[in-house]
Amino acid sequence: MRFDESFLDQVRGATDIVEVISPYVKLKKKGQNWFGLCPFHNEKTPSFSVNRERGMYYCFGCGVGGNAITFLMEHDGMSFTQAVEDLAKRAGIPLPKRDREPGTDDRDRLRAALEEAARFFEENLKGPGGERAVTYLKGRGMTGQTAKAFRIGWAPDSWDALLNHLKKKDFKEKDLEKAGLVKAREGGGHYDAFRDRIIFPFIDRRGRVIGFSGRLLSDDEDAGPKYINSPETPLFQKGKVLYGLHQAVKHLLKSEQALLVEGQFDVLTLHQEGLKSAVAASGTAFTEEQARILQRLVDRVVLLFDADSAGLKAAWRSYASLVGEGLDVVFAVLPEGEDPDTLVREEGPEAFQERLRAAQSVVPFFLDRLDPPLEDRGAHDRAEAARDLLEMVRHDSDGLRRAMTLQEIAGRFGLEEADLRRGLEELETSRPTFRDSEDRGGQRGTRDFRSMPAREADLLRLLLTSTTARERLLGELGPEDLQHPMGEAFFKALIKETAEGEGLDLDRLLEQGPSELRGLAAWLLQEEVTVSEEEAEQRIEEFQNAVDTRRRKQERRRLRESIEQARLAGDEATLARLLKEYQEMHR
Ligand SMILES: [Zn+2]
Repeated sequence: MRFDESFLDQVRGATDIVEVISPYVKLKKKGQNWFGLCPFHNEKTPSFSVNRERGMYYCFGCGVGGNAITFLMEHDGMSFTQAVEDLAKRAGIPLPKRDREPGTDDRDRLRAALEEAARFFEENLKGPGGERAVTYLKGRGMTGQTAKAFRIGWAPDSWDALLNHLKKKDFKEKDLEKAGLVKAREGGGHYDAFRDRIIFPFIDRRGRVIGFSGRLLSDDEDAGPKYINSPETPLFQKGKVLYGLHQAVKHLLKSEQALLVEGQFDVLTLHQEGLKSAVAASGTAFTEEQARILQRLVDRVVLLFDADSAGLKAAWRSYASLVGEGLDVVFAVLPEGEDPDTLVREEGPEAFQERLRAAQSVVPFFLDRLDPPLEDRGAHDRAEAARDLLEMVRHDSDGLRRAMTLQEIAGRFGLEEADLRRGLEELETSRPTFRDSEDRGGQRGTRDFRSMPAREADLLRLLLTSTTARERLLGELGPEDLQHPMGEAFFKALIKETAEGEGLDLDRLLEQGPSELRGLAAWLLQEEVTVSEEEAEQRIEEFQNAVDTRRRKQERRRLRESIEQARLAGDEATLARLLKEYQEMHR
């Protein structure tokens, strides 16, 4: 789909880039720019900057940059068309009439099917046959309001209710299978993936349904596992979603703290009781990707897990991933046999808040749960406990905090800190790391704009911002006047861009150029560059002079080389001509 320029301008003008980016990155204002942790590379200190006035972002760490449209393209994997349509929708700008079939895009079709399925499940919960599901939800203390906010539904006890419903709406079975809604039968045809289950949709941060989790309603053990999730699809990757994030994100940004719980019901109950920063890693071990999602939104995570051994194991795993991303992590203690869901309903939100405030840091939490307790252990068993604790602490990527934790462990175990450090070193070399060890650092590679000579950067910046500079310099300079390889590519793109139409459209250059050029443009424009015409004039002249000087120098060098050749070849005539040229040049 092609949009005309005035429509694109309208969309860009109505878009606030800070609003577009902030559901993904916690941005803080510093000077005229906003800063946060880059969503495109792994980092602990913010180098991702957003300039609201210019509508641009740039990462000083990995060199990505662009505007709101390219952010949606690079971050959400949208096409240009999807990104524009998306921003237009947010701004309430009606889309121009389409000249193609609606929903021809693959992901769009899957999204539409998932949305229709979610509606179908919601309707069924309210409809006849849904009473059992409603009774069950009420039994667990859920209100209709919560069910509505989280779009909870019920999949009827049927092999093809959803399939038939969606086929009537013209969805293709192939797409439904791809979306994880139906499964293929061996003899051909399909059947519903979710049957007689309470349905919890996974909703992305933009409010779109991307997959489902279904809890079995019947107690019949042959009916399958208690919980099933959508399979991995182009839209749904279990390890990258957090249940409840869409509903929690506002509160996460405000409270700077997340409550990480185990299951969907925990999330639902906590939100219902006003604890709206609860999220869960439903149905999968907590991953580093999930830790990174939280790290960009909050500083601190409270882990709320069941006190049983499976719950503890999950808590430790989550702890390792979270401190590995530099987050501050504390453990809220839940009494044996309780989970957040039952507890908040029994104690009420106030008492529950109190438990959150009393959350323990890693060392006391570990020691309180040690069985047998430290006092009852001999040397061998004490060492084992120390090693288990070190095994956790070593994932902490905050060096200072790790040192302080070591001090604390030394105190509690009556050990020298030096011994603990030695123990830590032993662990580093002997044990495979608990977290996934693949190296994700610098996956995009740093784009080395900073090696660009300052003059050259100045020149490109001037060309980007001053019409006069483009008129006067683009014709005069050649790509060879730029030494940095990126500078040259950028210069060529500038020439192409201005040759095609009426002057430079910076947004078009950003949206359609290759991503390195996008990053370069964003980098150049991070600095405020309001140059007066007079100043621009002066700089243009400087550049022209500089270029002239360099050209003359090159010319002279070429001439000297030719003179030398002619001399060696004994070509007197040529030599005389060249020498004359050389003298004229120096006059
Ligand atoms: Zn980055």
